[in-house]
Amino acid sequence: MNPRQAVYPESYFTATMNRSRDFPRLQGDAQADVCVIGGGYTGLSSAIHLAERGYSVVLLEAERVGWGASGRNGGHCSIGQRKTQDELEQIYGHDEARRLWDLGVESVATVRELIARFGIECDLKRGCLQTAWKRSDADWYRRHADFMQAYYGFDLRYVEGPELARLAGTDVFRAGLVEYASAHLHPLNYALGLADAANGLGVRICEGSRVQGYDRARPTRVRTAEGSVSADHVVLACNAYLGRLEPRVAGKIMPLNNFIIATEPLTAEEQQRINPEDLCVYDAKFVVNFWKLSGDGRLLFGGGENYTRRFPSDIKSFVRKRMMPIYPALSDTRVDFGWGGTLAVTMNRMPCFGRLEPDVFYALGFSGHGVQIATLAGKLIAEAVSGTAERFDVMARIPSPTFPGGTLLRWPGLVAGMLYHALRDRLGA
Ligand SMILES: Cc1cc2nc3c(=O)[nH]c(=O)nc-3n(C[C@H](O)[C@H](O)[C@H](O)COP(=O)(O)OP(=O)(O)OC[C@H]3O[C@@H](n4cnc5c(N)ncnc54)[C@H](O)[C@@H]3O)c2cc1C
Repeated sequence: MNPRQAVYPESYFTATMNRSRDFPRLQGDAQADVCVIGGGYTGLSSAIHLAERGYSVVLLEAERVGWGASGRNGGHCSIGQRKTQDELEQIYGHDEARRLWDLGVESVATVRELIARFGIECDLKRGCLQTAWKRSDADWYRRHADFMQAYYGFDLRYVEGPELARLAGTDVFRAGLVEYASAHLHPLNYALGLADAANGLGVRICEGSRVQGYDRARPTRVRTAEGSVSADHVVLACNAYLGRLEPRVAGKIMPLNNFIIATEPLTAEEQQRINPEDLCVYDAKFVVNFWKLSGDGRLLFGGGENYTRRFPSDIKSFVRKRMMPIYPALSDTRVDFGWGGTLAVTMNRMPCFGRLEPDVFYALGFSGHGVQIATLAGKLIAEAVSGTAERFDVMARIPSPTFPGGTLLRWPGLVAGMLYHALRDRLGA
C-alpha cells in the first residue's frame, strides 16, 4: 500500500473486506465530461451509470472508496422511502407518493441488479422484520399492513405472539411486520464491488484526493492539493462528510454519528434461535436499533447516536447496552468489533436532491436509508446529466428546508430534539 494512502477505520467490515486496492492520487491536470466528488454509493453509482452512457468520468475521493458511511453501515437495504407511504400520501398526495414508492422499489432492484451484473460478492440476503415495543406502534403496524395491501398491493405481514418470538428470537416485542422484498448485505464489499465495476467501465478513480473547491465557470475546474479536473458537470456525493465544500447545500443536512458492534461468531443453534430466517431487523424506537447476522454468523447490532465530533471512547459497551434488553441470552457473548460512522439527516428525513449553477448535481441526506436510495441517486443523476431529468426531479421536488441557523447554529436545536426523543425511547413514551 502507498504509505500516504488513508486507511479504513477498523471494523468487522474492514476485517472481512474482499480486498484493499489502491487507486492513485490525482496528480496534474485532467479533463472529463463529469467529475464526481465522493467515493461512496452515490458517487460510485453515478460514475457507473454515467460511464455506461458514454461519459468520461473522473471520481475524486478524499480517503478511500467506501471509507465513509458506505463502508460502515448496517447493510439494511429496505424497500420504499425513508418515510412510510401513508406519511408520503398525506404530505404529497397519492400520485406523487406513488412515484416515490415506485422509485423506492426500483432502488432495491437496482442494488440487486448491480450486484448480479458485476458479480459482487457481498453476502446479499433477502427479507426484513420491523418490531414494535409499544401497543400504539403495534396498532399502527396493523393499520399500515392493511394500507399497503389495499393501496400498493404490497405484502407486509403483521405478526405477533409465538410467530413474532420465533422470527425475532426474543419475546420482548409486541408486534412485527415482515416482508421479503427488502435485502441486506456487506456494505463495504458492496462499495468495493461498485468501485471495481466503475474502474472496469473506464472511470478514473483517484483516492487520497480531497477536493478543495471548484469554480463556477463552465467547464468547471475542480481542484485538489496536487491537481485539477476540468469538467462540464460535477456530481457532489459527499453526504455527511461534505464539510464546507458547498455552503449552498451544507445547511440542508445535519451530520450525526451512529454505532455498530459485531459479536463473536454465534453457534449454528444460536443463529437459528435468534434469527431463523436470516432477516435484517429494526425496531420502532426513534433512535432506532438495527441488527442482522453477518455472513459468518455474528450478530451485527447497531444503535445509539451522538451529535459531537467525537465517538464514544468505548463503542462496544455503548452499543451492547442497547442489545442486552433484546438478547439477554447473549450476556456472555464476546463483542469483537465496535465502530462508528457519520450519516446525514435532513429536516424532513427525506433525501435532498438538486442542482446548482453552473452544472452541479447533488444528492445527500439519506437519513439512514442510503444503501438503496444513494445507489438509485447515481442512476437518476446519470439520467439528468444526459438530459432526462424527469425522474431525478421527482426526488428534487421534495422540499429540503435548511436547518434553522444553517451550518453555524443547527446543532443546539437538533441536539435538544434528539435528546428529547431519546429520553422518550428510554421512558417507553
Ligand atoms: C453506522 C451507520 C449505519 C447505517 N446503516 C444503514 C443501513 O442499515 N441502511 C441504510 O440504507 N443506510 C444506512 N446508513 C446510511 C448509509 O450508510 C448512507 O446513507 C450512505 O452510505 C450514503 O452514501 P454516500 O455515498 O452518499 O456517502 P458516503 O458513503 O458517506 O460517502 C461520501 C464520501 O465523500 C468523500 N468526501 C467528502 N468530502 C470530500 C471532498 N472534499 N473531496 C473528495 N471526497 C470527499 C468522503 O471521504 C466519503 O467517502 C448508515 C450509516 C451509518 C453511519
